[in-house]
Amino acid sequence: MIIECKNGVHLKGTDLWLDAKRKADFCFVSHAHADHAVRHTEILATRETARLFEHRYGKAKFNILEYNRPKILKGVKVQLFPSGHILGGAQILMERDGTKIVYTGDFKLRKSLTAEKAEIKKCDILIMESTFGRPRYVFPHPQQIHTRMIQFVEDAQAKGEIPIFLAYSLGKAQEAMKILSNRGFKLFVHPTIYNIVKIYEEFGVKFKNYELFQTGNLGDRVLIVPPQMKRSRMIENIPRKRMAMLTGWAMDSGVINHVRGDEAIPLSDHADFSELIQYVKKAQPEKIYTMHGFAEFVGFLREEGFDAEPLKESNEVKTTFSKKLPTNYDLFA
Ligand SMILES: [Zn+2]
Repeated sequence: MIIECKNGVHLKGTDLWLDAKRKADFCFVSHAHADHAVRHTEILATRETARLFEHRYGKAKFNILEYNRPKILKGVKVQLFPSGHILGGAQILMERDGTKIVYTGDFKLRKSLTAEKAEIKKCDILIMESTFGRPRYVFPHPQQIHTRMIQFVEDAQAKGEIPIFLAYSLGKAQEAMKILSNRGFKLFVHPTIYNIVKIYEEFGVKFKNYELFQTGNLGDRVLIVPPQMKRSRMIENIPRKRMAMLTGWAMDSGVINHVRGDEAIPLSDHADFSELIQYVKKAQPEKIYTMHGFAEFVGFLREEGFDAEPLKESNEVKTTFSKKLPTNYDLFA
């Protein structure tokens, strides 16, 4: 089988596309984040992704598949399984001619309060995201991150300031809401976040202590808004406030200048470097193609004894693989 990468991943010789960025006849959409928001003729996805997708981008034709229910589609045996990234996020296992290929989409292995627990399946070929594929991106233990968020709120409130978290409206914001409301804080959330919370609740993920954000007296509430709202009048009209950006890039000390918040806290819905390596060790693929990350990540995989290369746009790669590793590759080219 041949994998090609042209505005998304395509298994050549089949009609199956994976997270294609241009309209395709039949495409697996791993989750409902904006970078996958294309209304294909027909979309393969979980029920949760379909619901979130239609809420954000309008009606589409879906072929719904539950987790871990194999099915033959377009001549390929496919199976979806949880990615742990956001609610309904899925990876896909594809089997054809005796070869097992897994495409991870965005994933994380750490426990989530709002997404299904990620699974890892053994495969021959692994196409994986590698956003945080540098050793510096090893996130602190989740409990430490939660403590930092709570501390941020308590410090701001002690100074009479309104604590504001900037968090992506789908996934990150809901995770932040769970962490903060479990601690007993009262939350005000932006409408785009609020509407998505209602969908999470339809699927049994319950939230407490939250209300739709209204201007006026904020009292002792904690505000959660999408990052792009930072410069909105809504936020600018709040006289005394303190803002924290929630992003995995908070591991870079320079990110604070970039986001211009008061603080950046590394709450992420992606795997960190150690999880990426952990994933590969468990999946034991013969060949790995990396996407969405630093090309140098493949060097670390090769050090671990894996055959890996970045899957670049317009690349076409045959899935015949050999266990022999190159002897003179440049890790950081
Ligand atoms: Zn995503």
